[in-house]
Amino acid sequence: MKLLYEGKAKRVYEGSEPGRVRMEFKDSATAFNGQKRAEIAGKGVVNAAVTARIFQWLGGQGIETHFLEQIDDRTLDVERLTMIGLEVVVRNWVAGSLAQRTGLPEGTPIEVPVVEFYYKNDALGDPLLNDDHIRLLGVASPDLVARLRQQALRVNQLLVPFFRQRRLILVDFKLEFGWSPSGALKLGDEISPDTCRLWDEATRERLDKDRFRRDLGGVEEAYQEIYRRVMA
Ligand code: ADP
Ligand code: UDP
Repeated sequence: MKLLYEGKAKRVYEGSEPGRVRMEFKDSATAFNGQKRAEIAGKGVVNAAVTARIFQWLGGQGIETHFLEQIDDRTLDVERLTMIGLEVVVRNWVAGSLAQRTGLPEGTPIEVPVVEFYYKNDALGDPLLNDDHIRLLGVASPDLVARLRQQALRVNQLLVPFFRQRRLILVDFKLEFGWSPSGALKLGDEISPDTCRLWDEATRERLDKDRFRRDLGGVEEAYQEIYRRVMA
C-alpha cells in the first residue's frame, strides 16, 4: 500500500478505496518536539484499540468522526480528511504547559474547561495561538474557531464521565479536526494515552505519555493499564 505520510506516531497509507486512509500506529514515541525518542513496546496496539473504542463510542453519542473500522491490532481505516492545521487542547485540571505558562500548580482543578489552539507546525514547535493569530495566519475563520471550540467541549463533556467510570481523571487532551469530502467537519486523528493526560482517580498516578516525557518509569505498564480499563 502506498505510504502517504510518516509521522512521529503513525504511518498513513492510501486506503483500499478512494476517500479512505489506513492509519498504522507505531511503538515509537517522541517528546519535546522530537528531541526525545524511544520505543514503547505495545504502544501502537494500545493506541489503535483505545482510539477505535473511543471513536466508535463518540460516534454513538452523535459526534461525527473519521473512524470506519479496525483492520488489525495496530491499524485503523478512517475517512480521509483535509486536516485543519490546528491542535485543539481541552483542559480540566492544570498540568504541563499550562502550569508552566501560568505558575498554577499541577493538579489545580479548572472550573470552566480551558480550550487552547496550537499551530500544527513542527518547524515552529507547535506554538500556542490566540484567535487573532489564527485569523492573521488564515488557518481557520472565526466561525470555524467557534465551531472547533464547541465541538471540543462537547467531546470533553462526553469523555470526562467515560473515563470517570473507569476510575480515571481526564486532565487534558488534544484533538484534531478535518473536512470530509462531503464538507462535514469531523473529528480525526487519535484519542489515546499519547494525546490525553489520564490520572488514576484514587492515587493520582499518571497513566499516560508523561511517564515517558518525565522519565517516571513503568511506561509500558501504564499503557497496558489504560488498555485494560478502556476496553473493559
Ligand atoms: P505527526 O504528524 O504530529 O507526527 P502522527 O504520527 O500521528 O503525527 O501522524 C498522523 C498524521 O495524520 C497527522 O498529521 C494527522 O493530522 C493526520 N491525520 C489524522 N487523521 C487523518 C485523516 N482522517 N485523514 C488524513 N490525515 C489524517
Ligand atoms: N498534546 C498532544 N500533542 C501535542 C501536544 C500536546 O497530544 O503535540 C496533548 C498532551 O498529551 C496533553 C495536552 O495535549 O494531554 C496538553 O499538553 P501540554 O500543552 O501541557 O503540553 P506538554 O506538557 O506535553 O508540552
